[in-house]
Amino acid sequence: MDVETALRKMPKAELHLHLEGAVDASTFAELAAHHGLELPPHDQVADLYSYDSLADFLVIYSLVCRSIQTEADFRRVTYECLARCADSGARYVELFLSPESHFEMGVEYPTMLAGVLTGMADAQAERSLESNLIPAINRELGPARAVEFVEMVAAHPHPQIIGVGLDFNEIGFPSADYVDAYRAAAAHGLHRTSHAGEVGPADNVRAAIDLLDCERIDHGYHVVDDPDLVASCVESQIAFTVCPTTTEYTTVWRDLSAPDHAIRQMSEAGLKLMVNSDDPAMFVSDLGNEYVRLHREMGLSLDTLAEMALNGIDAAWIDDATKTALRADWSAEIDTLLAATA
Ligand SMILES: [Zn+2]
Repeated sequence: MDVETALRKMPKAELHLHLEGAVDASTFAELAAHHGLELPPHDQVADLYSYDSLADFLVIYSLVCRSIQTEADFRRVTYECLARCADSGARYVELFLSPESHFEMGVEYPTMLAGVLTGMADAQAERSLESNLIPAINRELGPARAVEFVEMVAAHPHPQIIGVGLDFNEIGFPSADYVDAYRAAAAHGLHRTSHAGEVGPADNVRAAIDLLDCERIDHGYHVVDDPDLVASCVESQIAFTVCPTTTEYTTVWRDLSAPDHAIRQMSEAGLKLMVNSDDPAMFVSDLGNEYVRLHREMGLSLDTLAEMALNGIDAAWIDDATKTALRADWSAEIDTLLAATA
């Protein structure tokens, strides 16, 4: 078996995946046409997902969000997103949803949930893929709205709605400002993660851990600027959900083969990393490809990548007995896969 096939088949968790960034270009074009939204000029639908700038990307991102309007739309994009995860070897997914991005089109939160949860049930039934949902706070709307958002999430409980995240632009919206929202989330029994240190400083990672009481960190790359924080994260073994392909677009580390790429520095420092796809459709990737790129371009060993796959179990919000069982199953399966590449 070739190495790429083995990496794609390797059992994995996906814990950092935004539903809205995982909508196929062809599905986006169909939904936009159905709802009468005008698309930018393009020759082929795949061209919709090529960008010259962050501003370009944000225009398309907004259009993608506006194209998902009905319960059936949410069900479709969720199922398609999860089916692609299954094709990449994912066995368990925690999926981010950005409700704030849909409110401007007048979509109600219960409508989104009904569609997404049904799409998740479809993926469980048809692809045996278990998933849970993480509604994410848009930090750019400010701390007061973040508290309201958490209360909204708590007011619509469901066994598969298990935590909250925090995303969008860190610059101007420091993590420390969201303490009240995260206290409320904890009080409601919700798990907590946060984008931090992607474009913002290491202080955001520190605040996410110390002030927001996050159980894991999304991206976190700028932790490498603060050796004391690296040391404490190595000691605590808090997990970082790193996303190789999107670092090329959003961070200062634009070359996966560079010796000082943050993911390499984090791995070499002994931080607990797991690999994720973030916005796979919009950046033309998938979870399997993220592992392949870390091997091919960053030169990470198969053993290191296998360890990262297993780290996903530790970082997942599932019970300890399930973690123990998954670790035994996945370890055996990974050993067989890697032996087949020798
Ligand atoms: Zn993200």
